[in-house]
Amino acid sequence: MYGGKTMGEFINVCSGAGFETLPANQVDAILYNVPQAIENKTSIANTHALIDEAKPKILFQDSGGFQLHQALVKGEKITFDPTKDVMEHKILNLTPHHLITAAKIFAPHIMISLDNPIPKIENATPAAKAIKFLEHHGFNLRWAKDTSRLRSKYCPDTKLFVPVQCYSVDQLNHFLDDFGDTPCDGFSIPVRNHDPVEIAIFMLRLHQTGCRMVHILGTFTFRMIALASYFARNFFDFVSIDCTLWRSDAELSKYYWPVDLRSVRLLDEYSIDESVENICRCPWCQKKTFTMIKNMPYAEKSGFLRRHNYWVIEESMRECYTHAETAFSLKNFLSQHSGRKEEIKNIHNFLSMFEHLKGEKPETVIELLDKAFC
Ligand SMILES: [Zn+2]
Repeated sequence: MYGGKTMGEFINVCSGAGFETLPANQVDAILYNVPQAIENKTSIANTHALIDEAKPKILFQDSGGFQLHQALVKGEKITFDPTKDVMEHKILNLTPHHLITAAKIFAPHIMISLDNPIPKIENATPAAKAIKFLEHHGFNLRWAKDTSRLRSKYCPDTKLFVPVQCYSVDQLNHFLDDFGDTPCDGFSIPVRNHDPVEIAIFMLRLHQTGCRMVHILGTFTFRMIALASYFARNFFDFVSIDCTLWRSDAELSKYYWPVDLRSVRLLDEYSIDESVENICRCPWCQKKTFTMIKNMPYAEKSGFLRRHNYWVIEESMRECYTHAETAFSLKNFLSQHSGRKEEIKNIHNFLSMFEHLKGEKPETVIELLDKAFC
């Protein structure tokens, strides 16, 4: 049975920023990546400089599992030698020991254990997904356990999040069974393979195991923010989301529409009616019309849009969280501020079914939501 209101934190983690491209004078949280951060003395100094400039309240250390995945996909040589540097002659050499080396240097609040991400596979059969999951499961379990053991020994003040690399709730159960009571503080959920509703079901399943902190890795879609805000507000102590698109979209001249996050391309070849008002309340948009933004020189425009886009994501998170007390209050708020009717209906159907099932056994809730929405 579910119950109790926690009013947890809902945090945007700035990722993909460099010293010159930080989107704000101070960010709530920032993320650095192990292989890049400790590659050599210069990269260590640059990471320190970025952290000093960003003044984050929460410092996140990502493992570099994604770089490992990319190297494997490209067929590049990689090694796993804890006694050697993280990059040896341009060959990636990443182990849980390197994560600890980086954590000792930067003292992050939260670190993510080493993983070998499962790939996104389109139109695959359940059996093909089961095989892919099992291929990665051994690495992921071993590395999560090794990282946990080393964290407890060398940096016990850093919280440890473990990535869940699975395609389905059954696989998540399999992972959790094998993971057992290995010490960790939370889980991170990569979004590449999942619809936001599936991620919400994963979050519920993790909550049932006693997990109170989750990180959602690699997205900030409108639906994901809305659903995550509900769980941050009502179930978890801490939910964070990281995003890099604010930066690349700014470089493509994409302006995020407040709250709803639709993007509008502010380029000459796309016309915007002069009567459309810029309703953004960010500090940079004051009195700026879309034509003024469109006509800015490229470097000024992309810098402006980085800051604007980042601010709008945070505003969207704040506003959703404020109105996420119930499925009904969230739906009312979203309907007033967005034309995404189908997405809002989907969010509301999911959360209201969940609220109706609150008195049921946890495993029944997961099973019914999974059947209805996945
Ligand atoms: Zn703005």
